[in-house]
Amino acid sequence: MLVVTGATGQLGRLVIDALLASVPADQVAAVVRDAAKAADLAERGVRLRIADYDDPATLRGAFAAGDRVLLISGNEVGRRIPQHTAVIDAAREAGVALLAYTGVLGGPAADFTLADDHKGTEEAILASGLPYTFLRNGWYHENYTAQLGPVLEHGQVVSAAGEGRVASASRADYAAAAAAVLTGEGHANTVYELSGDTAWSFAEYAAEVARLSGKDITYSAVTAERQTANLVGAGLPEPFAAILVGVDLAIRRGLLAATPGDLARLIGRPTTPIADAIAEALRG
Ligand code: NDP
Repeated sequence: MLVVTGATGQLGRLVIDALLASVPADQVAAVVRDAAKAADLAERGVRLRIADYDDPATLRGAFAAGDRVLLISGNEVGRRIPQHTAVIDAAREAGVALLAYTGVLGGPAADFTLADDHKGTEEAILASGLPYTFLRNGWYHENYTAQLGPVLEHGQVVSAAGEGRVASASRADYAAAAAAVLTGEGHANTVYELSGDTAWSFAEYAAEVARLSGKDITYSAVTAERQTANLVGAGLPEPFAAILVGVDLAIRRGLLAATPGDLARLIGRPTTPIADAIAEALRG
């Protein structure tokens, strides 16, 4: 069985879509904490296994010997190491054949706070002795294109990333890579550094939004302090704003700009250009 955790999330749903394009639904299982949210998946023939990363007892029934499992990282930053460790323990006890994990581009070299949980999880997976695949995901296009509303409103892309570049790709690209690992062969004990084919700067991003929207959009490079204040002003809790600005500073240092080509190779096609994601977001 091919098993996807976080299957009701944005990435998880795309992974399920990609799997169902190449394998029968009765070979696919979704580990979800809310069955109601997964009703559409069940209707498509996907098996549901109900489990919560916070409740190890529920995870015991989530996996079976020989499963190929994709652990999609949770979204509670700072709490994910114990959550993911509970999943890893359950996978080890069940005797799964492969545990793939969605980490962060650069792995141990990613020195920003948001990466800490991913590094801790990779260490726990290595300690488990399970056959693993590390899918070290770079940034999603959608992290930026989901914010186009305020960009268009104010005519500015604002970031503390300076002239740093981001090799982002679409969520669907990363999902296709995860599906390729679950359905393919030869991926055990392998690390993939997944990123878009092209690294863009925020000035280039602003120019692309301007071109595609027909509006006057400029790039405003701001200090970390200014951007933290901007995010807090927009309603983010200060600690989370600081974590996000930490990502900007990592981008400034070039930590999310690598273009090794692993993602395009895994999915067998070029990654989706940022311009396509902007155009899609503008279409609404
Ligand atoms: P989502 O927030 O859409 O999905 C997260 C998934 O994790 C959801 O399905 C959620 O379940 C599930 N989940 C969270 N907590 C638990 C829990 N305690 N027990 C069981 N399931 C849980 O994020 P995405 O799909 O967009 O991204 C996947 C992951 O990638 C994120 O969780 C995050 O770790 C990381 N990420 C990466 C980014 C990047 O640019 N590379 C950007 C943003 C996130 P439910 O559906 O029930 O809420």
